[in-house]
Amino acid sequence: MKLNHWLHRLVRPLFPATCILCGAAGEGDKDICSECLADLPWIGHCCQLCALPLQQEGICGACLQQPPAFDRCISPLLYQGPVPGLITGLKFHHRLANARLLAWLMLQRLQQEEDAPELILPIPLHPQRLRERGYNQSLEIARPLAQQLCIGLSLHHCARSRATSAQSELPKKQRQKNLRNAFVLQKSLPAGHIALLDDVVTTGSTVNELARLLKKSGVERVDVWAVARTP
Ligand SMILES: [Zn+2]
Ligand SMILES: [Zn+2]
Repeated sequence: MKLNHWLHRLVRPLFPATCILCGAAGEGDKDICSECLADLPWIGHCCQLCALPLQQEGICGACLQQPPAFDRCISPLLYQGPVPGLITGLKFHHRLANARLLAWLMLQRLQQEEDAPELILPIPLHPQRLRERGYNQSLEIARPLAQQLCIGLSLHHCARSRATSAQSELPKKQRQKNLRNAFVLQKSLPAGHIALLDDVVTTGSTVNELARLLKKSGVERVDVWAVARTP
């Protein structure tokens, strides 16, 4: 503890926060400057269930036709502009510092929410992919969030039961098929309200499949926290 405290004091002035996007001085102790922060593609009006941007608050056509298995998706940003670079930098280029910024951006949106979940569950990676990558990007984002919000983190309740093809390479229909029974519950979840944490939600098939499994096992409310959403 003592050492940590001493390091904290020493490191601050030597390495002031720098904007990950443009290299300018960060806003306070944040890894982003005020200009880049204001330029981010924040989601305004959107579908109350899946966070798809809409002209006005409501429920989108797709959700009206077939409501998702999760209760709602909360997403601060569109997957546009500098956001894909931040996420792929974390996912494929070991830029773990991006996770802290992405968590903080998620937190800005969560401040509007009234009910907190009892547990945050980062979308699990298949063990093989975890070995290749060395870390789970969703867990890296979930960790500082759980810490800030004083909410538990679910690490061992749920796993990928098999390796699935990369979702981004498949059309929507095949994505759903590809994911069927892709997750397995390893022990029952000690919570009635859970938030699934994902870096980016595209068709929502992955989070939907996991939400379906959780609901079947008796979880009452499943929210999805996605840092970004494709338009
Ligand atoms: Zn900047
Ligand atoms: Zn929707």
